Amino acid sequence: MAEKTRCEICDRTFGNADGLTAHNKAKHPELAPKEKKSFPIKKIMNWAIFIVVVGLIVWGIIGLVNKNAANKTIIDESNLNFEAPIGAIHWHPHLTIKIDGEIIPIPADIGITSTTHFPIHTHETDGIIHMENNNPTKKTVVLGYFFEVWGKKLSKDCIFDYCADKGTLKMSVNGKENFDFENYFMQDGDEILIEYTSN
Ligand SMILES: [Zn+2]
Ligand SMILES: [Zn+2]
Repeated sequence: MAEKTRCEICDRTFGNADGLTAHNKAKHPELAPKEKKSFPIKKIMNWAIFIVVVGLIVWGIIGLVNKNAANKTIIDESNLNFEAPIGAIHWHPHLTIKIDGEIIPIPADIGITSTTHFPIHTHETDGIIHMENNNPTKKTVVLGYFFEVWGKKLSKDCIFDYCADKGTLKMSVNGKENFDFENYFMQDGDEILIEYTSN
């Protein structure tokens, strides 16, 4: 049969299908099958997920770094006014930490991992600090280094998150008040007490 060449809207007849098509295109664009401009939703979703994941990773890393930096004692060796002991040492000072009168247990195996044995570590929960050090440096014999290995804060202002703005922080060595805190050069057999009392 004859080609469909009549425009039903205008009731015009065209010589051939191409003529009708051209007419429809010009006069009745609404009839043309909509050119689907495919919106790249999938691509955008993938990018969004990628960006979120990368963001979370970066955020996590920054968080971890900040947390560690906040907890760690940064020991400035230029503040340490003593000579490092020469040769290997194996000393055992003893540390007690009291917060508002309560003794805070010091964990076993601080500074001992499957791959590393730090020159300061603990073996038991008895508060004995083992300074087992073949090449002592000034930094590795101070109390702050133990806290650094432990990943906790110690300074004249704070122990853990207990700070002098909300209480009193005191330290004594063998019963005598000491003001060195993180910079204290520990000796074999020392009895070290750090006490924090809230206001
Ligand atoms: Zn040991
Ligand atoms: Zn030991």
